[in-house]
Amino acid sequence: MKHFDVIVVGGGHAGTEAAHAAARMGAKTALVTLRREAIGVMSCNPAIGGLGKGHLVREIDAMDGVMGVAADRAGIQFRLLNRRKGPAVQGPRAQADRKLYRQAMADLTAQQANLEVVEGEAVDLVIKNGHIAGVILADGAEIECQSVVLTTGTFLHGVIHIGDKSYPGGRMGDRPSVPLADRLKALNLPLGRLKTGTPPRLNGKTIDWSILESQPGDDDPAMFSFLNKKPLVRQISCGITHTNEVTHQIIRENLSRSAMYGGHIEGVGPRYCPSIEDKIVRFADKTSHQVFLEPEGLDDDTVYPNGISTSLPEYVQHEYVRSMRGLENVEILQPGYAIEYDYVDPRSLNSSLEMRAQPGLYLAGQINGTTGYEEAAAQGLVAGLNAAAAALGREQVQFSRTQSYIGVMVDDLITRGVTEPYRMFTSRAEFRLSLRADNADQRLTPLALEIGCVSDVRTAAYLAKQEAMDAGRALMEACVLTPKEAISHGFKVNQDGQRRSAFSFLSFPDITFDDMARVFPELQDIGPEISDQLAKDALYANYLIRQERDIAAMQRDEAWKIPEDFDYSGLSGLSNELRLKLGKAQPSTLGQAGRVDGVTPAALALILAKLRQSR
Ligand code: FAD
Repeated sequence: MKHFDVIVVGGGHAGTEAAHAAARMGAKTALVTLRREAIGVMSCNPAIGGLGKGHLVREIDAMDGVMGVAADRAGIQFRLLNRRKGPAVQGPRAQADRKLYRQAMADLTAQQANLEVVEGEAVDLVIKNGHIAGVILADGAEIECQSVVLTTGTFLHGVIHIGDKSYPGGRMGDRPSVPLADRLKALNLPLGRLKTGTPPRLNGKTIDWSILESQPGDDDPAMFSFLNKKPLVRQISCGITHTNEVTHQIIRENLSRSAMYGGHIEGVGPRYCPSIEDKIVRFADKTSHQVFLEPEGLDDDTVYPNGISTSLPEYVQHEYVRSMRGLENVEILQPGYAIEYDYVDPRSLNSSLEMRAQPGLYLAGQINGTTGYEEAAAQGLVAGLNAAAAALGREQVQFSRTQSYIGVMVDDLITRGVTEPYRMFTSRAEFRLSLRADNADQRLTPLALEIGCVSDVRTAAYLAKQEAMDAGRALMEACVLTPKEAISHGFKVNQDGQRRSAFSFLSFPDITFDDMARVFPELQDIGPEISDQLAKDALYANYLIRQERDIAAMQRDEAWKIPEDFDYSGLSGLSNELRLKLGKAQPSTLGQAGRVDGVTPAALALILAKLRQSR
């Protein structure tokens, strides 16, 4: 019988990141997945990143994860979203060549030490003395381990819907995972149903590109990985078309035939990624919606029409797609569809993403009620690091809300649960001025170095950058102007008598690094990458000083630990509703308790008083 420290089930975005993270920690790791060649498959859109999501990818990269590296290798169009807004809300995004992404993930997986891919279906979990002890495969083979990470995506009891037709499937072309889903049910895990959808895929050769608007990538592309400086393959443009009143009429007339609207699906769908049926109903006054035509690869004619996911019957899809400009003669290569699947209520997990009721069992990705590759990968990283830490007898690896979007997501999931597929947004982070995509390495690589999950290449690159940042900052702090001198150089500053350094001048939105370098020529020695980063840090430096008090208050609440057996029913003055909610969420800190839906300052004071008593 084979033995591993960690077994990861599922080779999607959560699974690959989890397996790599565990292996980087030094744990002997197996990645068990249904089909080896499907490792890193993108089930839906051929793109990585975006607002909030791009932040997650940078954070994964800062921990030496693989998603950013693979996305850079496969990126065929890079755009920094919200470029005109402040760096805090800018999100890197890349259109990816599906084949190149899969290839990159396969190569990275083959090169990773301590990591073995096992092709097979996990059908059962081995539990000994209440602790996870292994996984059983469909061919009867048993693999022993200390920790298991389940990342089965949309596969648990997956059902595909197209119009009034439905059939079992994990995604198009893959069978669902049924025995494992049954086993999770038998283990009494809190399960629910969710749904999501995808658009039809089009034959690019049958699109009239000549009459469509074209959208190129950025002139100065922003990479995901802190290790990469520029795109690695040829770059392309996307096309843009629009739905129109005819499209909307066709969809309206056929709403009852849609799986989503025909009552064939019980699961809840993502409000933030609405199907085209949803858009027509919810935004009834709009006469047009933008549709991005995204090529799926450099040597692939398949086109992904972003914005029209659907579960209408195939013949209706043909009709409405062809009503759009440039698509009059388009051929559909694969129909759009909806998928419904089981998920586990993430309030049953702790902040390591381990099931509280089943030691050794970790869950990550769509199985926890999230949607999106980036959300899945970020959870995979957390679960993989912690599954390895537990197996190797090391301390848990924690991500806090004050430090990372990863911490925000994990905390949201385990304290609030989900009512619809959870997606990351910058608005979910209370400290978004400090949690920027550009500074993810400064925030998280020190943690990665401390826990020992970083390659030599990354370590050297990070330390060299930090050294240059420190030297650049010191140089800027040494260049000082009085208000009078600043005004004589044409800068608009108050006559407040305050001497300011070149660094603090950069917190004025209309003063640039180049302006400063004109006054202090020695600053020209600072390279463009470092000066750009220093300028971003300087822009927010004053806000961050003000934010520190709020961060300290949150950290104080996080320091109050709530024991697992804390009895909310014994707290007189707490409403029955809150007793139930807190009992279900089992927050592990006072801070987490405060974020459980409906918890008031008065309720928190009661909990705090009880915690003080038992100290
Ligand atoms: P997946 O990428 O689904 O990977 C699961 C892996 O587990 C697969 O490799 C599978 O082979 C393996 N597996 C499953 N069961 C077993 C088993 N028993 N034994 C061994 N291996 C197993 N995201 C968005 O952000 N927006 C969208 O609009 C969107 N639409 C989607 C539409 C559809 C139809 C689908 C299928 C997905 C959509 N997604 C969307 C979601 C996106 O694909 C997922 O969020 C992401 O892939 C989740 O990653 P994951 O690693 O959790 O699971």
